[in-house]
Amino acid sequence: METLTIRNPANGDLVKTIPCSSSQSIPQVMERARKSQKIWGETPLEIRIQKLLDLRERMIQDRHDLAKTIVHENGKPEFEALTNEIFPTVELISYFATQTKKTLRPFSIPMRLMQHRKSTLHYQPLGTVLIISPWNYPFLLPMGEIVMAIATGNSVVFKPSEITPLIGLRIEKLFQDSGFPEHIIQTVIGDGKTGADLIAGKPDKIFFTGSVPTGRKILKSAAEHLIPVNLELGGKDAMIVCDDADIDHATSAALWGGFSNSGQICASVERILVHESVRDEFVREFKRKIETLRQGDPTRSSVDVGAITMEKQRLVYESQIQDAERRGLKFETGGKFSSDRRFLEPTLVVGNDIENSTIYQEETFGPVIALSTFSTDAEAIQKSNHSAYGLLGSVFSRDLKRAEKIALALEVGTVTINEVVYTAGLPETPWGGRKESGYGKKHSAHGLFEFVHTKHIHEPRWSGLQFKSLWWYPYTPLQARFFDSLFGLYQRDYLAKLASLPTILRNLITFISKEPRI
Ligand code: NAD
Repeated sequence: METLTIRNPANGDLVKTIPCSSSQSIPQVMERARKSQKIWGETPLEIRIQKLLDLRERMIQDRHDLAKTIVHENGKPEFEALTNEIFPTVELISYFATQTKKTLRPFSIPMRLMQHRKSTLHYQPLGTVLIISPWNYPFLLPMGEIVMAIATGNSVVFKPSEITPLIGLRIEKLFQDSGFPEHIIQTVIGDGKTGADLIAGKPDKIFFTGSVPTGRKILKSAAEHLIPVNLELGGKDAMIVCDDADIDHATSAALWGGFSNSGQICASVERILVHESVRDEFVREFKRKIETLRQGDPTRSSVDVGAITMEKQRLVYESQIQDAERRGLKFETGGKFSSDRRFLEPTLVVGNDIENSTIYQEETFGPVIALSTFSTDAEAIQKSNHSAYGLLGSVFSRDLKRAEKIALALEVGTVTINEVVYTAGLPETPWGGRKESGYGKKHSAHGLFEFVHTKHIHEPRWSGLQFKSLWWYPYTPLQARFFDSLFGLYQRDYLAKLASLPTILRNLITFISKEPRI
């Protein structure tokens, strides 16, 4: 692939044609990244953070221009680009500007047996990290990782999706314009083949966000070089609506959780499990709200729901809709494409056989919700967990204790109670899934630790006091007798433990007086 032609998915207008990076250029990219990291990794943390705050200033100034780039490539409303991508990134930089030092200050481990020695953990940069991103949040998702990588002293090679490369190039420029050292972040343009070439360049860690099939491929190639990988993959998130839920609140949450970003969110509400006693009321109210949504080209009018960003997704929707039709499921709303096939109407599907359908079981990644019912909390939990994925879940109930109990039983990375989806925008909370939704965390202290090497230094507590360890050579009967008596300390019975002390002391004194270790 030599060039990428970017068209606005909402109207087909040509946005730009840009050259791809060649395979031959990858070794130089990696070499430049390593050189740049050597200097950046030794730059004091305070200076690295100051630079990130400069970047935040630049982002605030350029926010409308950045948002327009996102809108033209991705087809989402500008409001979503500003509030769901740029604003959370500003918040994320602000959080890590204060938290990085606190979280990564050297940690002294309280010692148990070896009181004369001390152990300290130091957190050091990994080196060069490779960040591979999808197109649905082409600014927020990579920036979340780039900011943490740069704050912790790494250099970054960034491969944006081939669907949204222009905002990827703008990210590189933001860093250049904010006075960061050359090549501390390099954006590499291309498709999956380029991503594979970058892995062959042996980065120190890979942060991948994307689909399960690509995640599997990446893990295989990374295994060749033993490169560690973080995987943020797909989801089929279920929203559980209990019989005591506030239906107005729950339907408004489902509306935003299912249809914002055209439903192209890994954590969007794709399944609703509603208690059978409130099912009809929920569907009636939800349908009424869905019908108020305005959908269309966000560059021509003010809309709530934008375009289908990519052809591959349209094919998934078509196939799932056909399967639902074959099964006789009912489309309470939607199910139809616009005449130019750039938009799929916000869709709510119900029906007896729904739980066997692909629309209920497989990731849709679009403006489609499949609704089913339950009669007990245990059934809701069982149905929610009956999925290959485990990214997010949500529970709606007026009884917070009941909701927490359900939340604890769900096999997912995050559960929101009386809320949906949005915690990827909270930098202080960890983000990441279970099962086929991947592993590893981003954001929060847990996320920061993914970007550093934890080095353990074990040393004498006081200089000048030096003796040879009791377990060193030569092995002698006195030494063996002393160590054997030590097991007495680990007995469960408290009196037996106490009773072992005199023998231990006697054996120790005999041992070191006859075989001094100084
Ligand atoms: P994708 O897997 O097709 O592509 C993602 C990225 O991987 C792209 O940059 C692509 O060029 C690259 N790639 C493809 N093949 C590669 C290979 N062999 N080696 C290296 N890189 C390769 O996914 P997509 O269509 O861009 O994104 C949609 C998917 O992303 C959905 O499944 C969605 O759920 C998931 N997603 C997950 C999260 C999360 O936080 N868990 C967030 C957003 C999206």
